[in-house]
Amino acid sequence: MDFKTIGVIGAGQMGNGIAHVAALSGYDVVMSDVSSEQAEKGLAVITKNMARQVSKEIISQADMDTAIARIKASGDVADHAICDLVIEAATENVALKEKIFAGLVPHLKDDALIATNTSSISITKLASTTDRPERFMGMHFMNPVPLMKLVELIRGIATSDETFEAIHALTLKMGKVPAVSEDFPGFIANRILMPMINEAIYTLYEGVGTIEAIDTTMKLGMNHPMGPLTLADFIGLDTCLAIMQVLYEGLADSKYRPCPLLVKYVEAGWLGRKTGKGFYDYSGDTPVPTR
Ligand code: NAD
Repeated sequence: MDFKTIGVIGAGQMGNGIAHVAALSGYDVVMSDVSSEQAEKGLAVITKNMARQVSKEIISQADMDTAIARIKASGDVADHAICDLVIEAATENVALKEKIFAGLVPHLKDDALIATNTSSISITKLASTTDRPERFMGMHFMNPVPLMKLVELIRGIATSDETFEAIHALTLKMGKVPAVSEDFPGFIANRILMPMINEAIYTLYEGVGTIEAIDTTMKLGMNHPMGPLTLADFIGLDTCLAIMQVLYEGLADSKYRPCPLLVKYVEAGWLGRKTGKGFYDYSGDTPVPTR
């Protein structure tokens, strides 16, 4: 199974990263969002990020020009009709994703594949809402996509061997390293990472340490490249909360209870870097803790 055109739904930080890497890997890309303006915003981010790669001599100006010309930004899901594969990377919300698939499927070629970049939602459940559960699977990229090597590959209960092999080969062609996970809440990456982030937020909530002390402890004490609260802001606090809720409900275990302080930050709209404020305020030159 060979892909020529790859669709990406959602032009946010993950969607534009996936489109970026797909275009540089030689695929034509259709990247859609709720409106063409929103999709164009994603394309502007790709242009900025590729320009940075050119200035660091990671790619050439010609590579960048060719890749940008391959990406079509769209506000219309029907534009995915020409795609051989559509990778869904919209907001982490099961009802929203199901609605997206319902709107997408009537436009697709019969043999087109669907992948989802969900961080935690059941692949089997999402697949069952489409007309092609055997041609559906999880393809979980890491943030930022152009830099991070890992892609978790998750088969739903009905995913065919052909689908798995095609997505596995694509992962390698995109220069990534696959790791296979079974379809259980949070898969491997977020089953391990997110409870640690949630525990860091409890540590703050209970007054055990300040934001700076918690991040410094994990950075310098555990040699993590960034502290857990900095990482939470980077991922997006709405995404962190959505993943904790999937773990809590899906595994029915109170140890995954989302920290009330995380809920409060999301209620405030303090979602991290993408909104300019989360556990840190990003409006100045250096991030300032918000508590
Ligand atoms: P984001 O908030 O940056 O982007 C989400 C995008 O989806 C937005 O541009 C939004 O306009 C768009 N969207 C919302 N409804 C839509 C619809 N009906 N049709 C088309 N587009 C729609 O979020 P993100 O961080 O890019 O996360 C996207 C997905 O990737 C989520 O499933 C998330 O769990 C997953 N993910 C996130 C990370 C991370 O570190 N942030 C890592 C791996 C996977």
